[in-house]
Amino acid sequence: MADIASPTALKSLLRNYGLTPKKGLGQHFLWQTQVVERIASAAELTKNDVVLEIGPGLGILTAALARRAGLVIAVEIDRALFPLLEEILCDYDNVRLVEGDARKVDFGGLLKDYASAFTGPCKVVGNLPYYITSPLIMRLLYGEFRKELLVFMVQKEVAKRIAACPGGKEYGSLSVAVQYLADPEFLFQVPPHAFCPPPDVASAVIKLTSRQQPAVSVKDEEIFFKVVRAAFRYRRKMLRNALREADLWDPEGDNIFEWAGIIPERRGETLDLVEFSRLADALAYSQE
Ligand code: SAM
Repeated sequence: MADIASPTALKSLLRNYGLTPKKGLGQHFLWQTQVVERIASAAELTKNDVVLEIGPGLGILTAALARRAGLVIAVEIDRALFPLLEEILCDYDNVRLVEGDARKVDFGGLLKDYASAFTGPCKVVGNLPYYITSPLIMRLLYGEFRKELLVFMVQKEVAKRIAACPGGKEYGSLSVAVQYLADPEFLFQVPPHAFCPPPDVASAVIKLTSRQQPAVSVKDEEIFFKVVRAAFRYRRKMLRNALREADLWDPEGDNIFEWAGIIPERRGETLDLVEFSRLADALAYSQE
């Protein structure tokens, strides 16, 4: 395998292939092998596992995943990286490289095409391109294919927002949307110098354990997320004003706050998922 275990080696490898990292695609390549090994270990892989990897880049994480898993399906948008990726991964016959945009790829279809021999849920791993982190996590988490564990490198701030508890400044729609379907765990931070070129911000690795069922059962998911979004769009306002401003609730109408057992003067950012579900259900009933 080609040497990429230092920034100098990585840059010289890129040069040999006539490549320069594309900032627009979030190409910050990991070179610190101990970070790579920690990410791969966090996915708790066995040879029975299929991994979907997002953005293999130069393949350093892909190789660490392939050593542990039964199969790795790696989706990379940048065609120019493929000759180098193929060289780096030439010793691994359990890697399938797929050219594609992770915002559009049919992950269920990929699993059917490449991993029909594996019957269990898959695992998803990626040092994610930071320009699309949140929509990508939503797509992977809410996508209709079975997954049990997702391990991502993201900006540290995003990792904190995902794992945040009610009441803090980091708690928001992203926290609720992720926690609805998964149990998040902030694993460890990664400094910019672990990458080449280094990004402007600190990074962190987060683990999301998929729930069998959503964290709360709601009468109408669409209304639940409308209430959540309204509560955080006007996060400094009292709940009753936030819902009114979002045209979700009319003060002349039903007293949904009483039905839900929630004080209307509270701020939305203090509600946990159970309280959001009670309020959303009260609103759903009032609209019947
Ligand atoms: N996994 C490698 C590593 O850890 O060094 C590379 C990580 S780099 C932060 C992000 C990778 O995602 C790049 O290889 C980039 O080309 C790729 N990428 C960017 N946008 C993508 C997209 N929409 N779909 C798939 N891959 C994408």
